Amino acid sequence: MIHPDTIRAEAKKKENENFKFRTFLKCHADEKELDWQFLHLHKELFADYDCSKCRNCCKMYKGSIPVEDIDRDAQYLEITPEQLIGIYLEKEEYGMNYQTKHKPCDFLQENGNCKLGDCKPDSCKKYPYTDQPERLSSLLSILDTIEICPVAFEIFERLKEEYSNLPNRELDEVEKLLCEDKYMILAAYCLRKLGAYEFSDVLKQKLSCNGKKSYTHGLLAKIPFRAVITTNFDLFIEQTNSANGRMCKTLLPNDMNIAEERLGGALPVFKIHGSYETPDSIVLTKAGIRELLFNKPQYNETLKRYFTENTVLFYGYSFNDPDIDFILQGIMADKKGLTRKHYALLPNVGEIEIAYLLQEYNIQVISYDTENDGHLAARGFLENIVQQLQQ
Ligand code: SF4
Ligand code: SF4
Repeated sequence: MIHPDTIRAEAKKKENENFKFRTFLKCHADEKELDWQFLHLHKELFADYDCSKCRNCCKMYKGSIPVEDIDRDAQYLEITPEQLIGIYLEKEEYGMNYQTKHKPCDFLQENGNCKLGDCKPDSCKKYPYTDQPERLSSLLSILDTIEICPVAFEIFERLKEEYSNLPNRELDEVEKLLCEDKYMILAAYCLRKLGAYEFSDVLKQKLSCNGKKSYTHGLLAKIPFRAVITTNFDLFIEQTNSANGRMCKTLLPNDMNIAEERLGGALPVFKIHGSYETPDSIVLTKAGIRELLFNKPQYNETLKRYFTENTVLFYGYSFNDPDIDFILQGIMADKKGLTRKHYALLPNVGEIEIAYLLQEYNIQVISYDTENDGHLAARGFLENIVQQLQQ
C-alpha cells in the first residue's frame, strides 16, 4: 500500500493515466458490477489497514459537522453546545453546517483517534466512500480521493488491473477512428457514452485554460475584430480579451441573435459548437448541427449576416465543419457567387487547394510552411498585424 506521506505526489504522476481510466470506466463499466468491485476491494483492503497510522483524511480536510450533530457532540465531549462551537467550530462558507477552525481537523488526537469517537460525523464514517453505491457517477470525486486516501488509491490501481485484460474491440475502433481524423463519429460516440454533463466535464478537464497562457490568443486579442466565431469550447478568447481591456459577450448556439446596440461595446463571441461551461449548449454531432441549421433560423441567419457584412480571417480552422460549410454555400447561392472575399491562414496548402477554396468559397488562402518552424509563421503573421496597428 502506498505511504500516506507520498500519496499526493504519486497520484499527480498518474493524473493523466487515472483520468483516462476514469473515462474508460464511464464508457465500459456496468454500474452494478462496478459497485460490487469497489465494495469487494474496500472490504478486503480496509480489513488489513490501520487508519490510525494514516489519518490523511483528517489532516487534509477540516472536519465538517452538521448542525444537527451539535447537541449530541457537545454531550459526548461533556461541554455545552456553545462551548463546542466557541472552542472548535466556525460556520461553513455555504449552508448551515459547521466546520472545524483548523486543518488538520481540531478533533484529531495525537494517537490518530477522533476526539468525537462514535459521534464523528457521518461524512467521516463513510470516507473514502468506496463502499457506497453509484460509484460510476462519482468517479470524478474518486480522482480527488485517490490523492488523499491510500486505500482508495490502491482500489483504483486494482481496478485498472482487473479491467486491463478485457477484450476491447471498441477501444481498437476508437483508435482507428482517431488515426483517420473521424472526429464527428468519435464525438457522437463519446457524447452517447458519457452524456452531455460528463462529456462537458471531460472537455473542461482537457481544455480548461485556468492558469494557462496562450500567446496566440494574446495576439488575436490585440486585433480589434468586430466579432469572433469559434468552434472551440474553452474560454481563452474571453480571458485574453478581458486581460486586454475588452469585454466579451459569449453567444451560444441556441441564443445567437443579439442586436448590436445590446452588446454595449462588448465583443460578440459566437461559440457555434457551444461552451464547456454550459453542457446543454454543446453541439458536436450531425444531428445537433442539423437541428441548428434547419430548425433554428436565428443560428443560420446570424452567421450568414456576419459572413456577409464582414471580411473574415479564418485562423486555425480546418474547413471540416458542416455548419460553416453549409452557411458559406448558402451565401454563395444567395449571391450567385459574388460574395465578399475572406482570408484563411492555412499550413502547407498547395495551389490546387488554394484555387479550389477561392473558386468554391471566395476564400483567399495565405499558405505557410510548417516543415522547419511548425506554426511560427502563423504567429509571425499575427505579430505583423499587431505591429502595424501599433504604428
Ligand atoms: S480512510 Fe483513507 S485517508 Fe482516511 S485514514 Fe483511512 S486510509 Fe487514511
Ligand atoms: S471529525 Fe474526527 S474523523 Fe472527522 S475529520 Fe475530524 S478527526 Fe477526522
